[in-house]
Amino acid sequence: KILRVAIMGLGSYGTRVAEAMKDCKRAKLVGVVSGTPTKIADWQNKYGIPAKNCYNYENFDQVKDNPDIDVVYMTTPNSLHKPHCLRLAAAGKHVISEKPMALNAVEGREMVDACTKAGVHLLVGYRMHFEAKTLEVVRMQRAGDFGKTLFFQGLSGFIIGDPTQWRLNRELAGGGSMMDIGIYSVNGARYMLGEEPIWVTAQESKTDPVKFKEGVDETITFQMGFPSGAIASCLSTYALNYLDKFFLNGTKGFAEMQPSTGYGPIKAWTNKGPIEREHITHQTTQMDEMAAIILDGKKPVIPVDGEEGLKDLVIIDAIYEAVRAGKKVEIK
Ligand code: NAD
Repeated sequence: KILRVAIMGLGSYGTRVAEAMKDCKRAKLVGVVSGTPTKIADWQNKYGIPAKNCYNYENFDQVKDNPDIDVVYMTTPNSLHKPHCLRLAAAGKHVISEKPMALNAVEGREMVDACTKAGVHLLVGYRMHFEAKTLEVVRMQRAGDFGKTLFFQGLSGFIIGDPTQWRLNRELAGGGSMMDIGIYSVNGARYMLGEEPIWVTAQESKTDPVKFKEGVDETITFQMGFPSGAIASCLSTYALNYLDKFFLNGTKGFAEMQPSTGYGPIKAWTNKGPIEREHITHQTTQMDEMAAIILDGKKPVIPVDGEEGLKDLVIIDAIYEAVRAGKKVEIK
């Protein structure tokens, strides 16, 4: 069986996913949701999408009556994920949301509950959870190859351009660098250490308050503490390039990845030497694996469901709270 996918939001990432799906064995682009008729026409031509599978933001609830679409993949700005997810769940369609799944944990919980109630899958576009070198480091960590892993460092950042883009609009983005790129260090710390944090501390720094308005973070450094005693020390920024690095240290060894979450190829090495794996476009593997999750009930090694998306949102909420309060925030 093939997973029949509609993409909602035909922007830069939606385009990347569409191109990557051309090489999928189990997922196929069959529909679109867009507010721009010219883009719809363009995608229809390019990907052979029939008119009956094209929707706009007013009428996409009608996907309910379309048996030819299994799942809608939301590649829209962050604030739209929740309201659109609720409408898709009500329409009885599976949902894939881009990261961050929502603006905060309260919204994320609503999405999870709505999809559970509707009996549809809610998955989050965590493409690294299917990346071969990442999975090998995670396998080695779980097998104890690095001993007791007590330290993780995550560096996530790039210099953001156009000051008018939605990523720098608090209403649409829900924050700044943390929502967009810092989330990779939050998520990475969790899968690299194989534990959930119990506290966070965080500090904010802003060099350009004109570009980064109130509620839009430019740079945040944050620390997470884990039940084993492990510590993560991370940086999220929109003010520096070349920041895409994970470092995991244990009592018997280490793993280092740089780039660790970019589109690849990922580079990874450990105290035992380099990790070599074929580079496959992340979104191609992701969509084939998500097809197996939805169609066959396959359980991925690192989860990509709504509960997983929610865990990151709980931590990000706590990081923002720690910045505001200027002190350690416990995570229940
Ligand atoms: P983008 O601006 O290139 O595309 C967003 C699309 O949403 C555009 O086509 C735009 O027209 C449409 N849209 C619909 N309603 C809108 C509204 N009210 N305001 C603004 N745009 C609206 O953004 P993008 O880079 O494609 O990011 C989209 C999502 O994908 C974000 O959640 C982002 O975090 C995520 N993303 C994930 C990855 C990844 O590697 N997993 C990479 C890039 C982006």
